[in-house]
Amino acid sequence: MEALHQLTEALRRLPGIGRRSAERLAIHLARNREGVAQALAAALDDARESLTACRLCGNVTRREANPCSLCTDARRDDAVLCIVEDSSDITLIERSGEYRGRYFALMGKLSPMQGEGIKDLRLPALLERAAKAREVILALNYDVESEATVAYLQHVLGQKLPEVKVSRLALGIPAGSAIAYSDPVTLGRAIRGRTEA
Ligand SMILES: [Zn+2]
Repeated sequence: MEALHQLTEALRRLPGIGRRSAERLAIHLARNREGVAQALAAALDDARESLTACRLCGNVTRREANPCSLCTDARRDDAVLCIVEDSSDITLIERSGEYRGRYFALMGKLSPMQGEGIKDLRLPALLERAAKAREVILALNYDVESEATVAYLQHVLGQKLPEVKVSRLALGIPAGSAIAYSDPVTLGRAIRGRTEA
């Protein structure tokens, strides 16, 4: 059962997958009905070979299209930069159809409890991009770590780029909620109604 254990442990490393889900998925894959395991293995191989993170915004892109189409599209507005925690949030905001600026994915957030994380925020790259903008939208979530990250970014942006306006999404959702749980209509409304941070 070593192989099943290894598969379970590998699945547990994925975001949002706990032990119970990982076990269920592993057993499902081990039974391999309708070749689901081969299909997954092939898709994983293909994704690993052909996809990467955009070197400017962090969005998932094909290796031969780096920077990604969102960064290179000349019709998009350089003056607005939307900062998200995770590149998967970019997909959600794009789906709202309300945003035509550029993006930057932090790919992490501060953990005030552990006093760490600042080095992981890709801060120099963020400041370089934000310097080209008139407005930075902090489209982060509303949990403790996200709030700490927002406060930190407001501080840094205020110091380094005082002429850049900083705003936040007007999500009006309860504390602890995540952008990932907002539907495109709500997200679109939040972008239009964004408030100065
Ligand atoms: Zn990009």
